[in-house]
Amino acid sequence: MNVSENFKKIRTNITLACEKVGRDPSEVTVIAVTKYVSVERAFAAVESGVKHLGENRPEGLLAKQKSKLSSQDICWHFIGTLQSRKVKDVVNHIDMLHSLDRLSVAKEIEKRSESVINCFVQVNVSGEESKHGITEADLDSFIEQLSQYKKIRVIGLMTMAPHTENKTLIRTVFKRLKNCQLRIQEKAYPHAPCNELSMGMSNDYEIAIEEGATFVRIGTALVGHEE
Ligand SMILES: *Cc1c(COP(=O)(O)O)cnc(C)c1O
Repeated sequence: MNVSENFKKIRTNITLACEKVGRDPSEVTVIAVTKYVSVERAFAAVESGVKHLGENRPEGLLAKQKSKLSSQDICWHFIGTLQSRKVKDVVNHIDMLHSLDRLSVAKEIEKRSESVINCFVQVNVSGEESKHGITEADLDSFIEQLSQYKKIRVIGLMTMAPHTENKTLIRTVFKRLKNCQLRIQEKAYPHAPCNELSMGMSNDYEIAIEEGATFVRIGTALVGHEE
């Protein structure tokens, strides 16, 4: 496992995916998902030039932040499902939240946050029951309702593609999220510019980039999976 080589390879793949569709690679930010790995491994990612780290549990996030990573200039992303009662534990420790899908969480953020939080609304495009996120049908009214929470800024949408070898199906999910984004952008809500798309993981980030991802969340292919 050489994190630095992995990162170089991923950046090359991102450039190639961008070239295919005429995008500028600088539009794509890599988030190293460190939930499966040690502080050392996360530190190696930062040393190779990764500036964005993502965790999916409050405990994992806070443990990483208390470690020697605290000396580094890192943008912290919370990518997991957040229970309302845990909002207070993380909200003043993160730069972006990728999993907003309930008003109860928005309400807690409003109450507990010291500043405006950049949020992605998580959409369950694939419709799998095991996945979190709101449905496409509920998306517009959900975003409209978020305007009453001053601490919430909807910078974009997030989704997870199904775990499948079927690349066409994966691509369809990403295309649908892009269409949702265009629809929301047309409304020109001041609280929801919705300029970002958080989609793509180790197995599907190139497809996601071809379909418009601006943030890719990469764990296994970048920092590995320990244990
Ligand atoms: C774990 C996780 C990832 C990264 O998964 P890999 O397949 O290891 O790249 C991305 N996004 C979310 C929401 C995750 O929970």
